[in-house]
Amino acid sequence: MSAPQPLLEVEDLVKHFPVKGGLFGREVDRVHAVNGVSFSLAQGETLGLVGESGCGKSTTGRCVLRLIEPTSGEVRLEGRSVTAMGRAELRAAARDMQIIFQDPYASLNPRMTVGAIIGEALVIHELAQTPAEHEARVVELLRTVGLHPDHARRYPHEFSGGQRQRIGIARALAVSPRLIVCDEPVSALDVSIQAQVINLLEDLQERFGLTYLFVAHDLSVVEHISDRIAVMYLGRIVEVAPARELYTSPQHPYSEALLSAVPIPDPSVRRKRIVLQGDVPSPIHPPSGCAFHTRCPYRKDPVCSSELPPLRDLGGGRQVACHLRG
Ligand code: SF4
Repeated sequence: MSAPQPLLEVEDLVKHFPVKGGLFGREVDRVHAVNGVSFSLAQGETLGLVGESGCGKSTTGRCVLRLIEPTSGEVRLEGRSVTAMGRAELRAAARDMQIIFQDPYASLNPRMTVGAIIGEALVIHELAQTPAEHEARVVELLRTVGLHPDHARRYPHEFSGGQRQRIGIARALAVSPRLIVCDEPVSALDVSIQAQVINLLEDLQERFGLTYLFVAHDLSVVEHISDRIAVMYLGRIVEVAPARELYTSPQHPYSEALLSAVPIPDPSVRRKRIVLQGDVPSPIHPPSGCAFHTRCPYRKDPVCSSELPPLRDLGGGRQVACHLRG
């Protein structure tokens, strides 16, 4: 029996941003934000996409939805090429693919009531036949995310950060999407509120069969919600693994360093902290060979600084891009 078709397939995705300068604003350089990223997501699965800020994870998420136009590569949703879609087709496909943003306040129009924000997509996609049906759906969405129907008449500034993120989630759910890109949805929230929002996202996934691409810079945030985790460094995926395996035995030196910074709740268990030397290099001129070689404690020359390690399959759903592994 052949494997079911993935819901989302991303193939060799590239996004370079021009750097303009000089008197005439000509392109003088390029930011290599995403450099050939490939992955797939099964229906109902959560893939955590993690890495330090500037590694290209949010750009990848936005390119999937074409909120940012990719430079090259292909994105397919159930076999349909999202990257080849024209405007009208893309607008229709937005019913299947939604996003929850990091900053729930900046992403909500302060001049619109919460009811209007949540109901906007119902109007755009003509999902309610009558005003009564529209109102009933908005109330249902508010309840689904744990808010009160009366909140529909209020404005975003009247809510706490956690409540605002719930409004953002209700807005994304309005069109009954299949895929949601969660772009650092809890990074701006207090730790106590983070768990509540993550629990809500997990409940919604179970209830509606949602598929998540969960972008985060913090491995501890994606640990519980992800089925698999992809680690990104300077625009490339360097490791993919089932979540538990990544936590227990990371294969890439960068994953190992990221993991060493995650606090362990059990004080009797100690993990050696790996402090990486230097900063993340500039994505305008990424290092040659393995982009991590300037900070890698295991670097072996000349291979590490001259040859790009391919993302190799290790079996058991694990892939790693390192000359010393696989
Ligand atoms: Fe380190 Fe070399 Fe592996 Fe890159 S390829 S992670 S530099 S050991």
